[in-house]
Amino acid sequence: MGIGMYCEICGGRILGRGHRVVVEGSELTVCDRCKDLGVEIKNVKVKVVKKVARPKPIVEDYEVVENFHEIIRRERERRGWTQEELAKRIQEKATLIRKLENREITPEKEVLEKLERVFGVKLRERVEDVKVESPKSLTPTLGDVVVIKRKKRS
Ligand SMILES: [Zn+2]
Repeated sequence: MGIGMYCEICGGRILGRGHRVVVEGSELTVCDRCKDLGVEIKNVKVKVVKKVARPKPIVEDYEVVENFHEIIRRERERRGWTQEELAKRIQEKATLIRKLENREITPEKEVLEKLERVFGVKLRERVEDVKVESPKSLTPTLGDVVVIKRKKRS
């Protein structure tokens, strides 16, 4: 057994002083051949990474009002339109109007919007229990995650 160290990556004998490198967050002593697999300690930078509180995507949190079918029928009849006429105005099929008024189907968003526009009424209501979080402070604090950033070597 001679004096010397063995590379913690390949197990080979280290000639000279070896290299202290960080590989996947662990400090290892490695040989010349393996040093590029890690980052030499001198190059390691500690960086405070901001915990970014991303605002939740604004989902379309609405529900079609309970009595949408009644409203559609009422608004249509108030204007003296037939189902066909209404269908034409919103560029949909009369069968769709019939199904909506019979509550056989729930209108899709696109149809809802057209109906709301043509009648000037709301057929949706916001869902109350969904809250959109406001973004929190972006200032990092000491409690935030500290990671070791590895410099990529080529
Ligand atoms: Zn090695």
